[in-house]
Amino acid sequence: MNFELGEAQRQLADSVRKLMARYATRDYIRELDREARYPLELYGAWVEAGLLALPFPEEVGGLDGTPLDLAVLAEAMSESGFDFFTAYAASVFCGLNILHNGTPDQRGRIVPRIISGEQRMAICVSEPDAGSDAAAMRTTAHWDGEAWRLDGCKLWSTGAGAPDTLLNVYARSAAGVGTRDAVSLFLVPNDAPGVTLRKLDMLGRRCTGTYEITFDDVRVPPADLVGEPHKGWSYLLSGLQLERLCSAAGYCGSSKAVLDMAVGYAQERRQFGRPIGTNQAIAHQLADTRVELEAARLLTYRAAWALGRGDALAEITMAKLFGSEAYVRATNVGMQVMGAYGYSMEFDMQRHFRDARSTTVGAGTSEMQRNLLAGLMGLKVG
Ligand SMILES: Cc1cc2nc3c(=O)[nH]c(=O)nc-3n(C[C@H](O)[C@H](O)[C@H](O)COP(=O)(O)OP(=O)(O)OC[C@H]3O[C@@H](n4cnc5c(N)ncnc54)[C@H](O)[C@@H]3O)c2cc1C
Repeated sequence: MNFELGEAQRQLADSVRKLMARYATRDYIRELDREARYPLELYGAWVEAGLLALPFPEEVGGLDGTPLDLAVLAEAMSESGFDFFTAYAASVFCGLNILHNGTPDQRGRIVPRIISGEQRMAICVSEPDAGSDAAAMRTTAHWDGEAWRLDGCKLWSTGAGAPDTLLNVYARSAAGVGTRDAVSLFLVPNDAPGVTLRKLDMLGRRCTGTYEITFDDVRVPPADLVGEPHKGWSYLLSGLQLERLCSAAGYCGSSKAVLDMAVGYAQERRQFGRPIGTNQAIAHQLADTRVELEAARLLTYRAAWALGRGDALAEITMAKLFGSEAYVRATNVGMQVMGAYGYSMEFDMQRHFRDARSTTVGAGTSEMQRNLLAGLMGLKVG
């Protein structure tokens, strides 16, 4: 058994860290967070460095990266903030969906534009009355003889308002059949007639942003229905494992940044004439956080290894569940260790605290991960 990353993966992590250190400076991140502004400049730097090409195969201009490569990238990128990885992830995971399930025309037309940075992507599944129960979605698509017409409302779509973004919209295209056979996936430019976006005022993840989107008789030409009609539900499920794996890796990167910050602070900050880290009450919290981070990382890397060999649903579910909750606990410790400074907007711990809180909800809630895992263990839960 070998617990070390390969040389290529160490180099990848190193180059991503260097790129992030150069472009995502502390001032840049604070400004974006304060102004709730999309990281356009940073995204451009990722494109320039070929990072958008990483997970795609060579025949479409990609770099043939493995799930483990992508997890390594997610971890390194998220040390600057999990929010940034979500901007990258939205384009990449929707792009992989087109690659695997789209028509040859869609693959040729869209994937190269994602790699070149001309096209960004956002995923639109959730709705006001359809969250964990995504199958309850009500957005409809009907065929008018020449084109599809979309009507409805999507919620919480990450990065949907960025320039040159294609919305990947799941909608009910057939009536009188179960959801499995009733949903199609459509590609809709975010500035198409009939599309209205509203950036939502969220506690965290404020740069990439989450959006409410209404569709009012939006015309979608047949060429922009992904793959085949009424197959959207299986397309939605097909990409979830890789997305959750990389989310788990991102949580590890952010947790590491939080731990480093808290340990550094505990060594520097003096009260009663000595560093606060010399108090066992502080040191033990940080030691426990280190254990949780290592455990989350091992679960994640094992899941990446398993996904490289085939199905890894149980491994990925455990990594996503444990990693997100460990990230939340790490930021809670970080806030306590830093006292009032942690609570101040002039320090970065509060940003991680706010971002972390979304991770036990986004990409599937902790409760849904536990339901899924329990189901895999043969237990029936509603
Ligand atoms: C920052 C952020 C970004 C997001 N980005 C996107 C995006 O890009 N695209 C997109 O489509 N969606 C996105 N989402 C939405 C996300 O997928 C949903 O929030 C999530 O699926 C939960 O849905 P909900 O918020 O409606 O909560 P609900 O489903 O209403 O759940 C509320 C609570 O009830 C619990 N619960 C529900 N059902 C059960 C059950 N059967 N058993 C046990 N507990 C249950 C949940 O776990 C949760 O604790 C994002 C969310 C966030 C916070």
